[in-house]
Amino acid sequence: MDFTVSEEQSAIINSVDKFLAQNLSPLDQIQYDKKETAPYHLMPKMGELGLFGMPFPEKYKGSNTNWDTIGLIQEHMGEKAYMAASLLNRTLGFGGMAILEFGNNDQKDQLIPEIIAGKMLFSLALSEPGAGSDAGAIVTKASKISSNTWCIKGHKVWVSDAAESKYIIVACRTDPDSRGHKGISLFLVKPDTPGLVMTKTQKVGTNWMPSYELTFNDVELASEYLLGNENFGFTHLMTILHFARASMAASVSGLAQRAVNIALDHTKQRYQFGKPLSENQVIRHRLVDMQLRVDQSRLMAWYLAWMIKENKECLRYAAEAKVIATETLNFVTDAGMQILASAGYDSNSEMQRIWRDGRLYTFGEGANEIQRNIIAKEIFV
Ligand SMILES: Cc1cc2nc3c(=O)[nH]c(=O)nc-3n(C[C@H](O)[C@H](O)[C@H](O)COP(=O)(O)OP(=O)(O)OC[C@H]3O[C@@H](n4cnc5c(N)ncnc54)[C@H](O)[C@@H]3O)c2cc1C
Repeated sequence: MDFTVSEEQSAIINSVDKFLAQNLSPLDQIQYDKKETAPYHLMPKMGELGLFGMPFPEKYKGSNTNWDTIGLIQEHMGEKAYMAASLLNRTLGFGGMAILEFGNNDQKDQLIPEIIAGKMLFSLALSEPGAGSDAGAIVTKASKISSNTWCIKGHKVWVSDAAESKYIIVACRTDPDSRGHKGISLFLVKPDTPGLVMTKTQKVGTNWMPSYELTFNDVELASEYLLGNENFGFTHLMTILHFARASMAASVSGLAQRAVNIALDHTKQRYQFGKPLSENQVIRHRLVDMQLRVDQSRLMAWYLAWMIKENKECLRYAAEAKVIATETLNFVTDAGMQILASAGYDSNSEMQRIWRDGRLYTFGEGANEIQRNIIAKEIFV
């Protein structure tokens, strides 16, 4: 395994750095959070930088970039401007890879160029009032009402960016006699489809990524919007999960590094008892513990990205990388809030935003308890 950052990787990182410094400063991010919106308008510019084209084959004018490079860039973006990393992750992680892996030729030809151009944000509607960690408990139904029309009826919760996305990938039960993960299909639904009603959810953090409750009142959909094979939607989602996990592990490691950097700077600048906070051994050790965790998290994210690049089975390591990165983030932001004290509690502080945002990631996108169940199954053989 080679950890050398190549000249090509450095060049991409430098151009991403320059772009983020010009377009999405920490101050800008605080403003987006307060306005409860993300910098969606930057997506086409990110497209011009080639970011959305990274995992796609050359036949779609993608750059066929390996996941170790993608991971490096996601980590870097996580540190510099997590909001941009999140837009990239969600476009590629479950939207782009879903279209690439199990979209039909028409869907690929139509959607992949738009994804690469940064004109396509996806959201995923899986969770329901009775189906959170137990995603196999979904009851939203899609029934065939003619040979080429489906009708969706049901209720989804916590759908991030549902109103802002081009397509919502909606998981529905299509086999009424099925239970659990079987008999589920995925559909591409436009947010303005008649019969679809959205209500914005008020929340503690990630305010820049609006979340919605969705009610499907007999939403009719042409069969060309079925994504993948009928009744195999959940299996499809599982086959691309490691991309989302790798994206999260990398960018959250970067975000955790940002929290450490903020705390480190603060301890050098803040004087109490006639000396900077950084001269207190207890504070130095606390920062060392924070950095230790971030370095472990980053290494795990790199390992997972390398496994994906090498096409190795990585269910266990995807779960491990997700757990380690997200718990590292909670650890370092909790410590960061203590180190910054009142300066961190100010609503204009970056630390408090990362602390609030980060609270989501240990239970979102597959709660860590469920990840531990996956790891346990793999090690108790
Ligand atoms: C801000 C935000 C954005 C979100 N965005 C989306 C989105 O875009 N699309 C989407 O579909 N969903 C989204 N979600 C939903 C998210 O995926 C769920 O919150 C997550 O799956 C956990 O489900 P739950 O909250 O219902 O918790 P529950 O499933 O009720 O779990 C509660 C607790 O019990 C634990 N637990 C549950 N079962 C077990 C078990 N068998 N063993 C041990 N522990 C267990 C969990 O780990 C958790 O700690 C979002 C949520 C939030 C808060």
